[in-house]
Order: sequence, then structure tokens, then C-alpha cells
Amino acid sequence: MSSEIIAAVSAVVGEAPRPVALHEPLFVGNENAYVKSCIDEGWVSSVGEFVNRFEKDLAAFCNAPHAVVVVNGTCAIHAALMVLGIQPGDEVIIPALTFVATANAVVHAGAVPHFVDVEETSLGMDPQTLITHLEKIATRQGNQTVNKLTGRPIRAMMPVHIFGHPCRLEELAAIAREWNLMLVEDATEALGSTQEGRPVGSRYTAVFSFNGNKMVTTGGGGAVTTHDEDLYQRLKHLTTTAKQPHKWAFLHDQVGYNYRMPNLNAALGVAQLEQAPRFLAAKRALAAAYMRAFEGMKGVRILPTPPDTESNYWLVSMVADQPDEGWLDTTLKALHDVGLQCRPIWQPLHMLPMYQEHPRSDLTRTESLAKRLISLPSSVKLGLSLIGG
Ligand SMILES: *Cc1c(COP(=O)(O)O)cnc(C)c1O
Repeated sequence: MSSEIIAAVSAVVGEAPRPVALHEPLFVGNENAYVKSCIDEGWVSSVGEFVNRFEKDLAAFCNAPHAVVVVNGTCAIHAALMVLGIQPGDEVIIPALTFVATANAVVHAGAVPHFVDVEETSLGMDPQTLITHLEKIATRQGNQTVNKLTGRPIRAMMPVHIFGHPCRLEELAAIAREWNLMLVEDATEALGSTQEGRPVGSRYTAVFSFNGNKMVTTGGGGAVTTHDEDLYQRLKHLTTTAKQPHKWAFLHDQVGYNYRMPNLNAALGVAQLEQAPRFLAAKRALAAAYMRAFEGMKGVRILPTPPDTESNYWLVSMVADQPDEGWLDTTLKALHDVGLQCRPIWQPLHMLPMYQEHPRSDLTRTESLAKRLISLPSSVKLGLSLIGG
């Protein structure tokens, strides 16, 4: 099967020099000019016009009223959970199949990640599994949901849009309402993805990342978008050392965080976001090319786009139906040997040493998918050459 896969991937990436990276950043717009202007004018740190501009541009891009930009996506999740009022000892429901930062940020907020299984289509948290699981292990006490097995409140859920594919957010939101859980979207991989025509991050409080391997990068960076004016004010305050505005005095009214994105990074962000529509078109053309190349292949397919959504195809991925034992490693080795730097999905979080004892639902699908998924070279550049850019 490996040779067929190699032929298909090679046909899509064409003449790209080997090795072909999994996902590379691309700086072909105003990045140089904007970063240079920060240096020339001396505004490199946490004050400067690009921070405000990036927040405004990002909010507009996501069709959300407010955005706060911070140093990275992990800190963005941490800050969002804090202002939502997550308390030490609370449980937060997250999928078991996500990047480790989703769980780590929950722990940074003093809370306990509670792992739930994912579905095969979107790779997002499975609504039906979640309902069954809550009915089994949770009970309502007043307007609070409590885990009967641990005695801890289950306070929130954080679905993740894996590889840019929007998860079944509205169904999950209905469950959140029914069980009185707060909802934050981990949209770190899904900038520009849409669901029923609406951008991810436009409906609920959502978190983004601008790490070097994401579609739009600020070097390192993150953001929270929200509709909630009060939440927005508190987020801004908490992430800027909780300093009250004053011409010279240092008045801090709580233990704040130095999470503000530096102006240098925001300058990069503004320039990158200007190109986001073109980047998205390139990513979608690349995904379409992979789908054509894999059409009719037995036992493997490109992860399809969930119904009623448009993915940003952050990482175009293939999934094997019923691979033999060892398929994952054999295939990855064969791809790497010809300079195609593909990657497996993350180790399921409940299998990592620090999360083995954590509360969880049945995780059969997570464990199965982890052995069957491979992400393919997905850089914007590869797609641009397909749309003639
Ligand atoms: C990238 C990512 C994060 C964290 O973002 P950083 O900017 O790297 O801190 C969180 N969750 C998921 C699912 C991610 O892919």
C-alpha cells in the first residue's frame, strides 16, 4: 500500500524540493515592512499600534465583536478558562484526541481534564458518546453538574476543531446548555474554517493559535474571540498584569498575567492576516488535489470534510480503514525515506504518563484512530502553486 500512497502524495506536491515539510510558514506580504516599522519606531514590546490593529482585524475576520491577542494559544486557553470562572478542582471535558496543550491549559487553570471519545467524521468530540457518558457518570445538584465518581463539579467543555475540520459544535452546545456547562472552542487549528457559512469563533468564546506551524503565524501567539463584553474587558485586564489605566501609577488590583502579545509579533500577524483569504484558497485547492489523487485507492482515504462545513485544511490527513498491525510506522518510514515529512496524529492524551488516571469516557474510537491517521505535507506554498500564485 505504501508505494501507492507515495505515488499519490508525490503527484500532489510535484516538483517541491525534498524534503517536503509537514507545514511551513510563508511570508510573502507586508511582513518585512511592518516588522521593520516596529524596530524603526522602537515599539517592539507590549505597547504599539499593531497589537490593537491585529485584535481589530482578527475580530473582523472571525466575525466576532472582540478579540484579545496573547503570547500563545496555550496561554489563550488558560486565560479564557480563568475569566470564565473555572475553579481549582473543577473538571473540564475535552476530547482525548487533541494536542497536549488543550489538557495542559486546563491543568494550568487548576482544573482536571476529563477525556471524551471522538467521532470518525470530524475527529471532534462525539455528541452521542458525551450524552451517554454524562448520563452514566454525572448528576445535577442545583444548577451544577457533578461527577458522581470523583465528586468534582464538571464546569465546562472545550471541543476542538481538529486539523481545521469543524466539530459538531451546535449539538455539543445543546448538551452544554442541558448540563449547565460553559463552552470554549479550542479553534487553535481552525482559523478561517466555517460551519453553515459562519466562521469558527463567531458564535462562542473561542481560542486561536498563531504558532509557527499554524496557517497564519506570528512566530508565537494566540487569541481569544468573544461576544461577551464583560468577559472581553476582564480578559484584557487579566492578560496585561491587571494594571489599572493611569499615566504613571502602578495600580494592580489582582494577580494578573503578562500574557499580552508583543507588538513585533502582532506586526507579523497583521501582515499574515491580510493574506489569509489567499492562504485559505491555497489550502482548499491542495486538499482537493489530495482528494483526487487518493480517489479509488483501496483501504485509505483523505479525511472528508464534515457536512455543512468548510475546513481550512490545516493538516490534510489520510485515514486507513482497517490497517494491518504496524501499518502506521511502515508507511511513515516509507514516506520519510523519499523526503515526504508526514506525521501521525498525537498520542491520545489518556495514554500520556501525567493523564493516565484522569476521568474519561470509553475511548475506543480515539485509540483506533490514533493508529490509522497520517497527516500529509500541507504548507500554503504547495497549494499556491496549484492556484497559480
Ligand atoms: C497549537 C495548538 C494549541 C496551542 O497553541 P500554542 O500557540 O502552540 O500554545 C492548543 N490546542 C491545539 C489543538 C493546538 O493545535
